[in-house]
Amino acid sequence: MQTRQPQSVVPGANLRIRILEGRACPVILCDACGREIRNGMPGHYMYDMDCFSTENDSRISFACNQECSDRVEGQHPEVKVWGWMNLKNLLAYLATSLNVNVGDVQRSIAEWGL
Ligand SMILES: [Zn+2]
Repeated sequence: MQTRQPQSVVPGANLRIRILEGRACPVILCDACGREIRNGMPGHYMYDMDCFSTENDSRISFACNQECSDRVEGQHPEVKVWGWMNLKNLLAYLATSLNVNVGDVQRSIAEWGL
């Protein structure tokens, strides 16, 4: 496993493609520390709760743990109230909105050797 330096942090733009063993693999980088999030259990995705009243889309931010979630909040004083969910829930929501079966995708990825 190679170690990478944190990259410049651009909120909402941290879903990236990283080349791992010659394959293009989507990864999520933490908006606070810039590191790749490799454990979704303590991580969060975060959004401006104002989207409920305005019905405008909200930018999504990612944090690898509670400390980084607090840092993301501090970086955006314009956000009055943050909503957040555990990163583990993001996959389920995306699978639903994309109409894909997560089990099928996991089997495909396993067949690719990832
Ligand atoms: Zn972090």
